[in-house]
Amino acid sequence: MKIQIDHKDFELMIEHEQVKKRLRLIGIQLNVAYEYSIPVFIGVLNGCFMFMADLMKEVHIASEVCFVKMASYNGDQRQEEVKSLIGLSHSLKGREVIIVEDIIDTGNTLKEVIQMVEKEEPASIAVCTLLLKPDALEHEFEELAYVGFEIENEFVVGYGLDYNGIGRNLKDIYRAV
Ligand code: 5GP
Ligand code: MG
Repeated sequence: MKIQIDHKDFELMIEHEQVKKRLRLIGIQLNVAYEYSIPVFIGVLNGCFMFMADLMKEVHIASEVCFVKMASYNGDQRQEEVKSLIGLSHSLKGREVIIVEDIIDTGNTLKEVIQMVEKEEPASIAVCTLLLKPDALEHEFEELAYVGFEIENEFVVGYGLDYNGIGRNLKDIYRAV
């Protein structure tokens, strides 16, 4: 099936049913791995909102859920770029943290998020991403424990991911053609 978003063509890549099946398996892994702790799931907005909602329905252990957003702005007089996490309201000290991402491309964003979470001194950090582009990845992450689907170096939309701000509401995932 083909669709158009903002004059660009996309074709169906991963159906929602396939995503749901994968999330059931990841849910089982998480339920086992965190059975004896109360982990904190941290979703990185905006892209993660749909994935996070479906993933958490498969997590049956006691857990906390929160969301952060990356901000970048020109900080001091030296015009250094200062990045921060918006929305981290409670302490992560000593907690088991699971960072939930929509997609990891170069890994630059994730690297920054991990660095900022590390400052909070959690007991552990794991990363759960719906999509991963292994060929685009520029960093190694030992935290990358849960991956929904590995995909080619291609541009995808839907299920939280946008093209020029559009398409986040699509239930299935589409690739640019
Ligand atoms: P990275 O920092 O890993 O290179 O990229 C992370 C961010 O780039 C993602 O959170 C997402 O916002 C955006 N991104 C990377 N690849 C894609 C893609 O294929 N489709 C969409 N919609 N966004 C992408
Ligand atoms: Mg993201």
